[in-house]
Amino acid sequence: MSTLASTADILARGRKRLLHCINPQPVVLDHGDGALVWDVDGNRYIDLLGGLAVTGLGHAHPRVVEAIEKQARKLIHASNLYATTPAIELAEKLCANSFAERVFFANSGAEANEAALKAARKYFHDRGEGRFEFVTAHNSFHGRTFATVTATGQEKYRAGFEPLVPGFRYVPFNDIEALARHVGPRTAAVLLEPIQGEGGLIVPSPGYLKQVRQLTREVGCLLILDEIQSGIGRTGTLFAYQQEDMVPDIITIAKGLGNGVPIGAMLTTEDISKALQPGTHASTFGGNPVACAAGNAVMDVLLEPSFLPGVRDRAGLLRRHLEDLAKKHAAFMGEVRGRGMWLGVELKWDGAKLVNYAREHGVLVNIIHGHVMRLAPPLVVGEDLMKEAFEKLDKAVAAFIEKEKPAGK
Ligand SMILES: *Cc1c(COP(=O)(O)O)cnc(C)c1O
Repeated sequence: MSTLASTADILARGRKRLLHCINPQPVVLDHGDGALVWDVDGNRYIDLLGGLAVTGLGHAHPRVVEAIEKQARKLIHASNLYATTPAIELAEKLCANSFAERVFFANSGAEANEAALKAARKYFHDRGEGRFEFVTAHNSFHGRTFATVTATGQEKYRAGFEPLVPGFRYVPFNDIEALARHVGPRTAAVLLEPIQGEGGLIVPSPGYLKQVRQLTREVGCLLILDEIQSGIGRTGTLFAYQQEDMVPDIITIAKGLGNGVPIGAMLTTEDISKALQPGTHASTFGGNPVACAAGNAVMDVLLEPSFLPGVRDRAGLLRRHLEDLAKKHAAFMGEVRGRGMWLGVELKWDGAKLVNYAREHGVLVNIIHGHVMRLAPPLVVGEDLMKEAFEKLDKAVAAFIEKEKPAGK
């Protein structure tokens, strides 16, 4: 039984018992299929957000569902005290398709970054080098644990949680000279997103990441790329760094890897991996067989020869649609940014409420801090659905502008 009353009731129960920081939109999602999702009242939405760049293969992808079902019947959990096949297979696939030689599995992006930061400090500790500092970028996002929120170069995420973890410095993103002034004999690692996601789809200049790589080599510190949002096909290649003519020392991944099943991973070289010997780091759920079975299904689909070229084709179409929309509503929408199936459009006044107009027109999008509309749809979203989504978005944006345009705009 699904009625409007039941939606209000479910939401009220959530408001009463979940922490206030969990503050969802006023619908209750029930089930999905590909790039479509339905709420408990049967309303249909085109999902252009993919659960925050997570459901890359779309909702209820048959290969992922089957892998989870099959593994759940066999063994859901073993702990990291026992070997299981899904984790080993997934590590092999990740290494075979990247620079990496070893993988540590965690359960989220923040935990993958924690592992990377700990590995970097321990690596230099073991070598007797006094390198402990991390340099990260303004406007970055690396997670919500103490170390990763400290790494996050946005004051509003850190406010009230001080004292933070010592040893972090911040530099402007995409500014190699500023970075050069802040790295030195105390630097353990530079940690950057290849493209800033939460920061508003900020793409660095061509060659920036390669310059960062050269600089970190000269200085003798490590380079960690946070590919938690950019990885797993989001930008049209398996990892974003693969379009940058450079190789990092560590990457962290999470969001797309399990297509929605919680999983994170840190990928690194044999040499750096030696920093984390038995007893130095672990996770009870890390490498969980069900999560890794989902990860294996995702990787198998992504590695089919036609899959990533197909993503790049659809990405071109997505960008054209978004550019057309921005042009049509140029009073409100500005620059289109991003790469692959991961785009943002700059908004000229606070667009936070646009998310409601879009949803009421049947499209799920995300507004970052009021000023960028972010799209990270399933990588598989078809041409017809994309067209329908943008027809609806066009109407939603027009309605938003008519009702919400501030005086003087
Ligand atoms: C989402 C995200 C994280 C944090 O991942 P969680 O799974 O929420 O801990 C870290 N870094 C980047 C770039 C992200 O997009």
